[in-house]
Amino acid sequence: MYYTDETVLFLDGKFVKAKDATTDLFNQTMHYGYGTFEGIRAYQTVNGVKIFKAYEHFERLKRSCELVDIPFHYDVEELTQISYQALKRNNLKDAYIRPLVYCGPNMSLSAPKSVSLMIAAWEWESYFENPALRLCISSFQRPNPKSVKVEAKVCGHYINSIMATNEAKHRGFDEALMLDMNGFVAEGPGANFFFEKDGVLYTPPLGNILPGITRQTVLEICKEMDMPVEEKYFRPEELFEADSAFFCGTAAEIVSIESVEGQPMSKPWKTSMGAVVQEAYKCIVLDKSYSYVIV
Ligand code: PMP
Repeated sequence: MYYTDETVLFLDGKFVKAKDATTDLFNQTMHYGYGTFEGIRAYQTVNGVKIFKAYEHFERLKRSCELVDIPFHYDVEELTQISYQALKRNNLKDAYIRPLVYCGPNMSLSAPKSVSLMIAAWEWESYFENPALRLCISSFQRPNPKSVKVEAKVCGHYINSIMATNEAKHRGFDEALMLDMNGFVAEGPGANFFFEKDGVLYTPPLGNILPGITRQTVLEICKEMDMPVEEKYFRPEELFEADSAFFCGTAAEIVSIESVEGQPMSKPWKTSMGAVVQEAYKCIVLDKSYSYVIV
């Protein structure tokens, strides 16, 4: 359940009750997936409720719109303030924030005639549990950057993600790992991917993946902690020799991977580089010092 009778959301300049918010069924986003969105987390930190990397998320929302020619008239700072208001008005602390830019009625395949912005938020428990995912290699490739703007978070792109997750579940796995159009490992349906081998973390370079804000945070953690990390293209076979691996994303946070196509990681998660990153990430989002994690 995403809202109650009392929940308010921000829609085109004002807060309205979620249950009273409506949309035109002839909107271009619904028919063609032509809209953009973000997924943002807020945490109850030691210094009060904090939205993690709000600026980066709204900048990416703006960039996503620019990349697909959807007009974007909002100020990133203003959107951050609106998000804090949405949390406050709904009395949310640990929460997920969902901004959505969607287009008005227009059944032609042309530039939008009008654009709307919604910002909704709902409760999201802060759980840093470790489910240890069993991945399969998806038969669905990530979209080709020559077909779509892969670095944009566009609604329609997520059909590809849904197909991959459904396939993984049907095959009895927890989640999919997707390749790019050249057969190199790209990312998960909703998270970026890292693996560890001989004391180095590896992750695919930008280009054929969503430039994840959590991925960037992981790179910053590695720099700060002097952990070797490299961006490189690699094939799925390389993962069968990996020491450990994890997904990272705003919603997923840092989540360990137990196996890929039934081949287990060689190190126990607790002793992996990912576990150190996971602990540091938790400290950062909760506004705590993480110097003690450094070993
Ligand atoms: N890749 C895809 C396809 C995603 O949907 C997400 C989630 N936004 C990510 C990676 C991770 O991005 P972020 O860390 O910015 O949430």
